[in-house]
Amino acid sequence: MTGHAVVIAGGGPTGLMLAGELALAGVDVAIVEKRASQELIGSRSAGLHARSLEVLDQRGIADRFVAEGTKHPVVHFHIPLDISDFPTRHNYVLGLWQRHSERILAGWVEELGVPIYRGHEVIGFAQDDRCVRIRLSDGHSLRTQYLVGCDGGRSAVRKAAGIEFAGWDATTSWLIAEAELTEEPAWGMRHDANGLHGIGKLDEGRARIVLTESSLQSGDEPGLDTFRATMAAVFGTDYGMRNPTWISRFTDATRQAVTYRDRRVLLAGDAAHVHPPMGGQGLNLGIQDAVNLGWKLAQVVHGKSPESLLDSYQVERHPVAARAMRNTMAHVALRRRDERTLALGDYLSEFLRMEGPRRRMAGEISALDVHYDFGEGHPLLGRRMPDLDLATAAGPLRVYSLLHGARPVLIRFDTLDDLDIAPWADRVRRIDAAYAGEWALPVLGTVDAPGAGLVRPDGHVAWVGDRMDRRLPDALTHWFGPPAHDGDSARHGQAG
Ligand SMILES: Cc1cc2nc3c(=O)[nH]c(=O)nc-3n(C[C@H](O)[C@H](O)[C@H](O)COP(=O)(O)OP(=O)(O)OC[C@H]3O[C@@H](n4cnc5c(N)ncnc54)[C@H](O)[C@@H]3O)c2cc1C
Repeated sequence: MTGHAVVIAGGGPTGLMLAGELALAGVDVAIVEKRASQELIGSRSAGLHARSLEVLDQRGIADRFVAEGTKHPVVHFHIPLDISDFPTRHNYVLGLWQRHSERILAGWVEELGVPIYRGHEVIGFAQDDRCVRIRLSDGHSLRTQYLVGCDGGRSAVRKAAGIEFAGWDATTSWLIAEAELTEEPAWGMRHDANGLHGIGKLDEGRARIVLTESSLQSGDEPGLDTFRATMAAVFGTDYGMRNPTWISRFTDATRQAVTYRDRRVLLAGDAAHVHPPMGGQGLNLGIQDAVNLGWKLAQVVHGKSPESLLDSYQVERHPVAARAMRNTMAHVALRRRDERTLALGDYLSEFLRMEGPRRRMAGEISALDVHYDFGEGHPLLGRRMPDLDLATAAGPLRVYSLLHGARPVLIRFDTLDDLDIAPWADRVRRIDAAYAGEWALPVLGTVDAPGAGLVRPDGHVAWVGDRMDRRLPDALTHWFGPPAHDGDSARHGQAG
């Protein structure tokens, strides 16, 4: 093991996605992963939300996931919320167990040539102005410019950095298992005084069973006897449960790192935020954290942008996870079975069936509504760029195909005069395109067509051009670093 420009602790979904992003940007990156293989015990995440599928589409790999999953037209917040009318190519939730998502991501990362040091655990680090020295459990150490903790909710990196994990202790615990059942169970969900329980079908005749415990319990390795007894208390039988491959416990503990960065050390995914799995958002948040951080870290490592660009990672992503934490806390509270909570839930259901509230909440769970605050301006500013079908001199193409290389792109529609980006041509591609259709955004609806849009590698719009706005050089400098010297830009020329 030698040094790398960036080392990622943890090769779960977040670490893998971040490694892919950095590798695409030409950064020397490696993953240190404590598991000996990518194999995951327990199914954990059930799928991918619309925005995650879009960011995977931005890298040209969404098809790999879609080919293995099943499409469902609803997201869940208290009741199912239809998203099939959302203006996106991925107007559904993709049912795909986490082990498959991780396997596909790991395959992509391998194609990109990222080394993964498996069976190695990060146990600590020391950082100074120039580097981070990482300590591994086998006594070796590793030197890097930046260390990113993608090492899950109990993050050793977060703890070693002394970053506070602020939030709320657990109020409720659930048992989860994957096992064979000798008797045919009552498939589906069941409510009782304790809360919601469920038995779902897995592959090869196995079942995934989730039970709400009657009182808060701790410890994530409950035994088979405990599980059987709880199951019998809920269903009157344990259905002859046998051969479990996974028995675990999770809670509604909800916590977030107060800062996502301490100088050369950053956090992403569960290392930065944990919350209960209602709505299925944790893995999705991690993937989107990685896509937000990757290109920024790459620019800083390449010396194109100042280190202060990394501060925008926290500014943009911290509020998004904080919102997911709030909606999962609300989701758990609404599962209580007392008459007053049931009455509240009935009212909420009525509202959620209305058009505006349905779109608002479904936009949040699917993360299609994420809006980074880049100031006043066109509604597109700070939001995700839609994957439009463009007409260009080179023929038709989709916007997301322009982002496959994880590089920014300026799209000039046919209403604006020349936009000179020559001093940034080594970093930013420019393309002239026409689009005659409607500009429809999830939740917001139809917006005015922009004259031009500067799209960051994560797919968010950093600048919107119209005849009045001539601040493009400011936006280019802010996001992609100062202009290159004349000689540099002449060497690289103008892409288009
Ligand atoms: C029951 C359950 C259901 C869930 N359902 C959903 C769902 O439907 N949708 C959803 O989006 N999310 C869901 N989640 C959440 C999802 O599983 C997590 O949010 C996701 O795994 C986070 O990914 P991550 O890469 O940030 O962390 P992790 O998946 O925890 O990965 C961390 C990685 O770091 C490694 N590691 C840990 N410590 C070290 C160390 N010191 N050194 C080196 N490596 C280390 C670990 O081995 C692991 O590979 C669910 C979770 C549970 C428990």
